[in-house]
Amino acid sequence: MKSLNTFNPEKTGFFRHRKVAGGYLVTNDSGNFASLSEADFHSFLSGRLKAGTPLYSRLSSGGFLSGEPAVAALSARWRQKNSFLFSGPGLHIVVLTRRCNHSCLYCQSGAGGRAGKKTDMSKSAARRVLDTIFSSPAQSLTVEFQGGEPLLNWPVLSFMVSAIGERSKKSGKRVTISLVTNLSTMTAARLAFLLRHKVSICTSFDGPRKLHNANRPFPGGDGHACAVKWLKAIKKRSVRGAGAGDALLTVTKAALPQWKAIVDEYVRLGLAGIFIRFLNPFGAAKRVWGSVGYSAQEYVSFYKKALDYVVELNLSGKSRIVEHSARILLAKILGESDPNYLDLRSPCGAGIGQLAYDYDGRVFTCDEGRMLAAMGDDAFHIGSAGKGSYNSLVSSPVVRCVVTSSVTDIQVACSSCAYKPYCGVCPVYNYSEHGDLFMHQPSYRCAVYMGMLDHVFKRLREKKVRVLFEAWAKSKPD
Ligand code: SF4
Ligand code: SF4
Repeated sequence: MKSLNTFNPEKTGFFRHRKVAGGYLVTNDSGNFASLSEADFHSFLSGRLKAGTPLYSRLSSGGFLSGEPAVAALSARWRQKNSFLFSGPGLHIVVLTRRCNHSCLYCQSGAGGRAGKKTDMSKSAARRVLDTIFSSPAQSLTVEFQGGEPLLNWPVLSFMVSAIGERSKKSGKRVTISLVTNLSTMTAARLAFLLRHKVSICTSFDGPRKLHNANRPFPGGDGHACAVKWLKAIKKRSVRGAGAGDALLTVTKAALPQWKAIVDEYVRLGLAGIFIRFLNPFGAAKRVWGSVGYSAQEYVSFYKKALDYVVELNLSGKSRIVEHSARILLAKILGESDPNYLDLRSPCGAGIGQLAYDYDGRVFTCDEGRMLAAMGDDAFHIGSAGKGSYNSLVSSPVVRCVVTSSVTDIQVACSSCAYKPYCGVCPVYNYSEHGDLFMHQPSYRCAVYMGMLDHVFKRLREKKVRVLFEAWAKSKPD
């Protein structure tokens, strides 16, 4: 690049840069950023910025100029942004059964069909799992019930929800409970119990009926109708922050041309947010990748159109729906502290931010590690609930390896990437795709996040969009 010939390192602080939307983005390790025109970028590089100008002040307060502001201020911001490192695993994912009554095309959970209860968690395994969860040093815990379909093991689900309430009172720990369910076996009595115990309910919802039911076949039933019926009931009966319903979109190949219809369906149901998520080409999804998968570029193109449409609905006052992937990135970019999204931090949350428990009490670094075990690979298994101490689990060689290998500073590509302060790598994905824990290029996952971040930073340059994005960055999911 021409301007590197005139680069004056005496005048600049440490920074990384990237060309975005015709200008330059500069970022540093404290998460500060500045969007510069090409001319301003060249002035910055060559140290020709005039003191006292607005640009000089902006770059100075962001820590992009040498000696300003004091290193202490930058390190205080870094510490605040990385405060998740000082607490133990807060997220605990519990698989109550591998049984499921749906046969979703992209299912990665290792769900084992409707017949047989041998993959149901027993009450004794549930007690052992709770012992381990409550031995985490984290003062704030989230217990997330998953499956298979967790409602199919209602006796143990209701037992654990009640037990968590009692243990929470005794221990003084704050506990949030969430349930990820396809809602097909929900009943009014079950919903009343869950809402009484402030359980947040989350369901996969793939948009219009035809698309949802094609992605998520429910033999003998209509999965879309069940989801719509209960999402409406939850919305009617829950109070904000206590038992609110949430929906997750998994994008498949069939969804790619339907970005508008999908967003419209979420808006039609009055959902407060849409969480657009890409498929990972590992585990069970790998086997059917040819029919459900897509390239990173195809996903990014879908994401840009869907996000732009959500933004347009907000700016025109037609809806206040929030897109949650963008909200998380924006909270990282604009917020004072990190939203602690476990897949986008350095090191990632495996073992030190979350633990996942299979139905038999076996413990894994994270849910993706557990999913790999369901496919026959135990690489991310770290022990069993109730056997050995909490410390032996989280200091296992597997956790040490995963933590070390998910530090972005030591990935060749990330160490020089402008998005490093807002991004993260996934050792389970790397292991599954490339055979070792470190990121290799080209990486599908990297290309997806790079494309999403390019678009978010591009839209952030627009005044009205920035106001909306600032509100999203401050908002909490319902
Ligand atoms: S994963 Fe890719 S986009 Fe993210 S920091 Fe690393 S190189 Fe950048
Ligand atoms: S290994 Fe991957 S899936 Fe597991 S916590 Fe880390 S980033 Fe998330």
